[in-house]
Amino acid sequence: MTDGKAMTTSANDRFDVAIVGSGIVGLGAAYAAVRRGLRVVVVDRTDRPVGATIRNFGHLCIGAQDGPARAYGEASRGIWLRLAADAGFWARESGTLVVARADDERALLEEAAQAEGEASGGIRLLSPAEVTGLAPVRPEVVRGGAHVPGDLQVNPREAAGAIVRHFAALGVEFRFRTAVTAVRTGLVQTTRGDIAAEDVVVAVNHDVDQLLPEVAERAGVVRCALDMMRVSADLPSPLQAPLLTGWSLVRYRRFAGLGTATALRERLHAERPELAALDLNQMYAQLPDGTLLLGDSHHKAVQPDPFQPEAGFDAFLTEARELFDVGGMRVLERWQGVYAAAGEEFLIEEVAPRVLALAATTGIGMTTGLGLAEIETARVFGWGASTGSATGSAEVIGAGSADADASTAVSGVQTPAIVGGAATTADVGGIAQEENA
Ligand SMILES: Cc1cc2nc3c(=O)[nH]c(=O)nc-3n(C[C@H](O)[C@H](O)[C@H](O)COP(=O)(O)OP(=O)(O)OC[C@H]3O[C@@H](n4cnc5c(N)ncnc54)[C@H](O)[C@@H]3O)c2cc1C
Repeated sequence: MTDGKAMTTSANDRFDVAIVGSGIVGLGAAYAAVRRGLRVVVVDRTDRPVGATIRNFGHLCIGAQDGPARAYGEASRGIWLRLAADAGFWARESGTLVVARADDERALLEEAAQAEGEASGGIRLLSPAEVTGLAPVRPEVVRGGAHVPGDLQVNPREAAGAIVRHFAALGVEFRFRTAVTAVRTGLVQTTRGDIAAEDVVVAVNHDVDQLLPEVAERAGVVRCALDMMRVSADLPSPLQAPLLTGWSLVRYRRFAGLGTATALRERLHAERPELAALDLNQMYAQLPDGTLLLGDSHHKAVQPDPFQPEAGFDAFLTEARELFDVGGMRVLERWQGVYAAAGEEFLIEEVAPRVLALAATTGIGMTTGLGLAEIETARVFGWGASTGSATGSAEVIGAGSADADASTAVSGVQTPAIVGGAATTADVGGIAQEENA
């Protein structure tokens, strides 16, 4: 924040809501605002969303959360389904598969299933045969497993772009290649001039330490850098849902807080110190084109090294070959993604009157970000009910079949509302009228 000079904005630069950041959290805030009939601008320094929101697994892992994360995740679920239908991107109600390769992993799943029954969206325990029916894993390594039914999967490479095009058609203005240098009540200062707005949302992920350093320091925000890879894999059958392992169970709160989790964590770390040193979350998601996302390692620092150790990628490949009934595997891509990390799972702070900073400060922003933004903007800004429902249902998934493609699901309405981005006009379609601002 700065105590800036007097506002010198033109009518074109006055909005009800200005949002900094076009990742999933910023997009969630834009959706909350535009559905309430508010005039919205989203400002991002890049030419399209290229942050954590496109670099992840696309795994909306709601059932493994608890507390506020679970509530934000449940709220996000309906919004994701609604957006998949209206913006025309691939999403599937896959649930999540968990494979247990040892008795202590199976015992932890049993404990979780007992702790929260089916009635509350619980866990269905699976026999080894059921696991191998749902995932091309080697039968000899499977001791059991579970299916968490409410979870979703999206393709992170296409979802944010489709949402941007959809929101542009709803009237949201996007100003890309425009960096925000300061925010204060009523004003956003950018490298292309000032923007006046009643309400301001800062949704810049880990870069909150650049824009609001004192807020980030107070919350203890650092960066968490993750290595990921995409491979083509010669698998005998598709992976029916994102797949978690014991390494995931000791991370996600719903499982990690249970009594048997401590012993499991100790066993994994004692047996596989090299994987523990990577802070591995061994998990997999298959994209609609059949390629497999492998990951991920975690390295936390204020500014993590950009260098990606090859040993981590070797471990991803070795572990995948151990788990899957796979013929050949060919590496297609490697990348680093970064998210904000802090002691609490979320940063939610009204840093000045009507200036709200929002971030998921652990690696669950795809799961929770839309709901976080929906709930917290309405609460902090006192926004009333929206003009359109955000709580979609299963039947609104529309474009959610495994081979649906955004390019076939949209049709040509031209809008000039995306400025400075890779696309200066957008092809959009399928806009539900009740969603119009
Ligand atoms: C490898 C990896 C795997 C993950 N897997 C999952 C998963 O499977 N499920 C899950 O739920 N979560 C997952 N996550 C976490 C999730 O991706 C993030 O929590 C979420 O995408 C964060 O969204 P965001 O909008 O806050 O940030 P981002 O998507 O990073 O967007 C922030 C935006 O702010 C912009 N910005 C920053 N500073 C400025 C400025 N000064 N001016 C203008 N623009 C600015 C940036 O350019 C960027 O576009 C994963 C993350 C990573 C990295």
